[in-house]
Amino acid sequence: MRWPVMGTVAQMTSRRHADERKFGELFVRVQASYSRVEKLLSAWNPESELSRLSAAGCTNWTEAASPDVRPCYAAALRLAEESGDAFNPRIGEKLRALGMGHGRYSRFDLGAIAKGFAVDMAAEEVERAMGGRYFSLLLDLGGNLRAVGAGEWRTGVRNPFRGVDASQPEICAVITLVGGESVATSGNYERFVEKDGKRLSHILDGRTGEHVSGIAGVTVVTPREYGAMLADGLSTTLFVLGPEAGAAFLKRRYPQALALWIPDDPASPRIIATPDMAYRLERAAWPVASPRM
Ligand code: ADP
Ligand code: MG
Repeated sequence: MRWPVMGTVAQMTSRRHADERKFGELFVRVQASYSRVEKLLSAWNPESELSRLSAAGCTNWTEAASPDVRPCYAAALRLAEESGDAFNPRIGEKLRALGMGHGRYSRFDLGAIAKGFAVDMAAEEVERAMGGRYFSLLLDLGGNLRAVGAGEWRTGVRNPFRGVDASQPEICAVITLVGGESVATSGNYERFVEKDGKRLSHILDGRTGEHVSGIAGVTVVTPREYGAMLADGLSTTLFVLGPEAGAAFLKRRYPQALALWIPDDPASPRIIATPDMAYRLERAAWPVASPRM
């Protein structure tokens, strides 16, 4: 089942759904859950709660937001604090302060974390609806995946160089998710801006407002306790920090998260992975190295 929402494509896959009616009911719940998050957190829709708070000059975001989306604001602000603003939801204000804003960003930007948050909300709904019954579901919201219920899911890490060279494999590694785990990818290949014929990543260094270069993609796996929201937020954070500072950051703050970076070097493709990520990777198409720490 695939449908467009939150500026991307959502997908929901079920295994062993002998009960078609049950699956249909879960689908409706997941759909409604995403739409609700979109209505509250969209930076593009001027009617969203986020846009209205932004227009009203809000500063105490977490308290002002509707109770069920507060965790998303709180997590974004916490990641900013922990990463020394490498991750920065106030990037719009930052750009404006630097004279770089083009009115393109709302004052507060949850684009790097809201999709993962929506996946966690939907997963909670599904778990509640299923009670203790057996089920196995994979939620995917624009590259933010979460395995819900029992069972394992094999997921592929997309080859970021495929757009430049179609002879390259589509997938550059396989990661198997177990129930409750999430995986998120941030890349410079799906969304980017072009300037003077050069591709600029849509991820900015939240400290300087500059486009981040040097990294083609980052993939993060998180356990159930962290959830899809942190996988999403961390993939953006680690894209900015790069492998060395990024691995040190994880070790200090999020020791249960696994991460890999693909340097933006199509001439010698390689994967830089934290040790537990390297251990997880199957069928890696390229050499796997550890971050220098
Ligand atoms: P995608 O939305 O393509 O899945 P990400 O999850 O990495 O990718 O989110 C990128 C989005 O996050 C950007 O489009 C922008 O809205 C926002 N953003 C860009 N740079 C930062 C940053 N340093 N900190 C927080 N948000 C950012
Ligand atoms: Mg992200």
